[in-house]
Amino acid sequence: MLGDGARTLLAQAAASVGPRTARRRAAYAAVPVPSDLCPECGHPLHEPAVAAVPRQLAELAARYRRVLLAPGPDERLRRRPAPDVWSPLEYAGHVRDVLLVQRDRVVRALVEEVPQVVTMHGDQRVDLLAYNDAAPDELAEELEVAARLFGALVARLDDAQLARRCTYNYPAPAERDLTWVAWHTLHEVRHHLHDVERQLADPNATVTPPRGRRRGGGDDER
Ligand SMILES: [Zn+2]
Repeated sequence: MLGDGARTLLAQAAASVGPRTARRRAAYAAVPVPSDLCPECGHPLHEPAVAAVPRQLAELAARYRRVLLAPGPDERLRRRPAPDVWSPLEYAGHVRDVLLVQRDRVVRALVEEVPQVVTMHGDQRVDLLAYNDAAPDELAEELEVAARLFGALVARLDDAQLARRCTYNYPAPAERDLTWVAWHTLHEVRHHLHDVERQLADPNATVTPPRGRRRGGGDDER
């Protein structure tokens, strides 16, 4: 199945080219894997190449910095739009920790045979580690460091290492190789930046709760 984003792109492509080219593109796009985009942030959900991950992580981390340090009242960064929806600082803290946790998960998969990913207790960390009390400039720096650390590890992986697997719980329990883990991690970073930017652009916008919460949290960590 194509996502809405992919369908939109297809419609745009069809409008800008002749019918034969549009049909050919549609036929290629019918192969679902490379065309499926996240309907919320537009991230490709199944991207086989990881070479771009470190650079894209660095770019996204820089965007977090710009967002967190943009002029405006401090309160907007700490405000939850709804009790069960994280604030921009809480999202940023979560992303920083995701990057650190994913780095360790990759190391485990490189050493152990198909390890089971252990939950990071994402919901509990928000309070335990006081994400919402963070200084925005410090958190921005920490997120950049975490992105650099994860990116540096991914950049070192050869094809055999990228093919190593772990059992991952999201979106459903399945064995995933490290190519998938790298790309999925990049999606996490991009997706939550989208959440933060949307929240700050319109504090009253309807936002979806973090996916972990919506599904009940616990061992379904992404
Ligand atoms: Zn997304």
